[in-house]
Amino acid sequence: MRYQDLSYWLSSLDEPLTPRPGLAGDTDADVAIVGAGYTGLWTAYYLALADPSLRIVVLEKEIAGYGASGRNGGWCSALLPTSLPALARRHGRDRALDMQRAMHETVREVGRVVAAEGIDCDWRAGGTVVLARSDVQLGRARAAVAEAREYGLADEDLVLLDAAEAAARCHAEGVRGGTYTPHCAAVHPAKLVRGLAEAVERRGVRVFERTPVTAVRAGVALTPAGVVRAPVVVRATEGFTPALPGQRRAVAPVYSLMVATEPLPEATWARIGLAERETFSDYRHVIIYGQRTADGRLAFGGRGAPYHFGSRVRPDYDREPRVFAALRRVLGELFPALGPAVPVSHVWGGPLGVARDWTASVGLDRTTGLAWAGGYVGDGVGSSNLAGRTLADLIRGVTSDLTALPWVNHRSPRWEPEPLRWLAVNAGLRIMFSADEAELRTGRPSRRAAAFSRLLGH
Ligand SMILES: Cc1cc2nc3c(=O)[nH]c(=O)nc-3n(C[C@H](O)[C@H](O)[C@H](O)COP(=O)(O)OP(=O)(O)OC[C@H]3O[C@@H](n4cnc5c(N)ncnc54)[C@H](O)[C@@H]3O)c2cc1C
Repeated sequence: MRYQDLSYWLSSLDEPLTPRPGLAGDTDADVAIVGAGYTGLWTAYYLALADPSLRIVVLEKEIAGYGASGRNGGWCSALLPTSLPALARRHGRDRALDMQRAMHETVREVGRVVAAEGIDCDWRAGGTVVLARSDVQLGRARAAVAEAREYGLADEDLVLLDAAEAAARCHAEGVRGGTYTPHCAAVHPAKLVRGLAEAVERRGVRVFERTPVTAVRAGVALTPAGVVRAPVVVRATEGFTPALPGQRRAVAPVYSLMVATEPLPEATWARIGLAERETFSDYRHVIIYGQRTADGRLAFGGRGAPYHFGSRVRPDYDREPRVFAALRRVLGELFPALGPAVPVSHVWGGPLGVARDWTASVGLDRTTGLAWAGGYVGDGVGSSNLAGRTLADLIRGVTSDLTALPWVNHRSPRWEPEPLRWLAVNAGLRIMFSADEAELRTGRPSRRAAAFSRLLGH
């Protein structure tokens, strides 16, 4: 397998993606981190920044950015998989708001660090426009803004757009309105993760690639090439977590798939818009997401690929022709300016991690020294930075505003054993798809989808 083939992003880098040397024998460290995606690397970054004397080792089974971090949609957003009301029900309104504000700040923090570290990742803080293309979707846009107001969030955080305002940002077919938030930046995800790996190495962190961890226990990470002994071991393996012993039911790997077009002519961009490289989506149930890339392509993705029995993750699951065809069709519907044959040049996908209660978490078990972060669903680009900063405080024993956030030490329940897990996840996907179809047909909101969302605690 060529790492370049894993995503358009990895294929577009100016580097050969030669793996760094792997671990060769046993070693000692203060902190061992398993996984060189954003979570592992941000954790290493903030630890090394706070205490340059710490001996930090990152163990990666392939290369930095092999996982979702090198393949995603490049929305560095302030989104969380859990809604504000759901967080407020569990932790109270103030702590829910603290979490949301911390996410707003996180987008700025990532922008600040990429500038400070000279990570050229096509960063553009153009916000997000979410389109409403039917009455039902317009209803959801209004409800989203009303909910934001209930929590004290202002127009500066989320604003309702009329049809003209929405189309001025993103001229998709049939736009009736939408919402806009400034709290998002478009990034080249692979440049970000590869740049982060270099930034942590500059600070003395040792990154071992092609070094799979076969087990994690208190005080050790085991690999075929040697044992890393460290009082703190961080699991930053997200969608790949179920392959680790004892973690099969910790998160469900759900696939998100993407396509990228050829670079589009300026005349086409003049019709589509996205002049500020706003990331974009719409108010359907089965999530779609897109960005205008710095080199003038549309990178566009969506959920909908099946969950695989036993939480298996395999390279061929990244490719689902049915989903790629659907993405291409939806792009063509959204933007007729692309013409009848949408010029797709790249297709790819990858696993993300879904916790049983749809709640991301970060934590450290002080008795074992085992730490973790993840369960971000499709929102890990921003939240992994918050997770990394928070883990750095937890590991150094610092009490801070970050360690008081409600996702700290939250324990999600384990997923059901199979075949229940397979039935539940795939049934959920089917309900959302048929809800979107039914809404288009009837023009009425789907009650089944609403009931399913409530079941998930959204
Ligand atoms: C197609 C797609 C689109 C997405 N779009 C967005 C988006 O636009 N915005 C957003 O916020 N989020 C998005 N996400 C989610 C986001 O990419 C992830 O939440 C985020 O990258 C998770 O980072 P991570 O470091 O926790 O995990 P990963 O990036 O998956 O990294 C985990 C790393 O651990 C390594 N690893 C696993 N097991 C082992 C082991 N046993 N030993 C050693 N190493 C191991 C893997 O090789 C991998 O490199 C998307 C995800 C996908 C797949």
